[in-house]
Amino acid sequence: MEDIKHYKELKYCITTFGCQANIADSSMMAGILEALGFEKTEDFTESNVFIINTCSVRQKSEDKVYGIAKKLKGLVKKPFVIMAGCMVGSVTGERQRYEFEELQKRTPWVDEYINPTQLRNIPNILMNRGLIGEWAMQKFSSTDVNQVYKTKEIGYVNISYGCDNFCTFCVVPYARGGEVSRSEREILREVKHLLATGFKHIMLCGQNVNSWGIGMNEKFKIRTGSEQNLPFANLLRTVHDMEGLEKLSFLSSNPFDFTQDLIDAIKLPKIDNFLHIAVQSGNDEILKKMNRRHSINDFLNLIEKIKKEKPDVEFGTDVIVGFPSETREQFMDTVKLFETVPFNVAFISIYSPRKGTPAERFYKDDVPLAEKKWRHKHLNDVWKRNRPVGGSRVRV
Ligand code: SF4
Repeated sequence: MEDIKHYKELKYCITTFGCQANIADSSMMAGILEALGFEKTEDFTESNVFIINTCSVRQKSEDKVYGIAKKLKGLVKKPFVIMAGCMVGSVTGERQRYEFEELQKRTPWVDEYINPTQLRNIPNILMNRGLIGEWAMQKFSSTDVNQVYKTKEIGYVNISYGCDNFCTFCVVPYARGGEVSRSEREILREVKHLLATGFKHIMLCGQNVNSWGIGMNEKFKIRTGSEQNLPFANLLRTVHDMEGLEKLSFLSSNPFDFTQDLIDAIKLPKIDNFLHIAVQSGNDEILKKMNRRHSINDFLNLIEKIKKEKPDVEFGTDVIVGFPSETREQFMDTVKLFETVPFNVAFISIYSPRKGTPAERFYKDDVPLAEKKWRHKHLNDVWKRNRPVGGSRVRV
């Protein structure tokens, strides 16, 4: 009986940084903790278990995590702190970017580290650390885990984890490991559950959803706009027809494997009119250095084809300015792209080297910061001037 009492009093708090994949993971971790009987609190100072789901894409996100130390300092009762997400993924697994000990040294206030593939270890971790008893573990069933969201606005479903594309600036292939597609059965079960609990808008998430269900040998042969059939296009068709669904979105999508089959699938009426397709640069030389498998012409042709098939479409994109060796002239190609394609949403980032990535190891970060800042502001101004009137600016 003592065990039950102890377990009922436990509270958890989760802080999430980064992308939709992390939001989906956090909702899963919340589901695991609630299946173990924990109660949610937004205030980590009153939690027993505090999970920080981290992002490594930008240094700024990592710095915010390091800053949490100050908030924990001086607490009379420090919660049990679990660090999850890409900062942990970056120092564990086969594609380690730097030493685990380095992260440990900088975060001595963390009690346990789990990478994005270890979410389901949480019950065992808590039991081994004496935070829950055997009784809670016996009662726990992983099939009872349902994601927990703050609102019923959008239900995020991760359809794949990791990435094999190795864009030279990106930490994801290291932090989240190789691309693994979840089974269709699992995905559909999760979508069905979300729809049954009142969600009407589902977002399918992955680092590159286009390559869901495709083997290593095949995926690198696919090219923009080609005739290749994509399992992901079929998945969209299946989810689209599920009862209760009103809107279906997906993220992230890249130009290099956006085929005609996918263009056909997105014509379906419940597929979101907003498409986020990361272009990263407007210059072919820079795209090559970024190890992107598309040219600017590929991208422009894709945009044209999509617009023809889905006339109300709105576009979003990601761009990096000041990538190593990017000249002012090459940057102006990105400006030209923004003048040609009026993006509704644009995430414009200043390049900063991320430890262990090919760009950090092999290219000199040689664009001066002042120049990077100027390019950032200039592109932002161009984007604002050109973005469609009445188009949305802020997206999920
Ligand atoms: S496609 Fe490129 S940018 Fe996107 S997650 Fe994979 S490596 Fe990173």
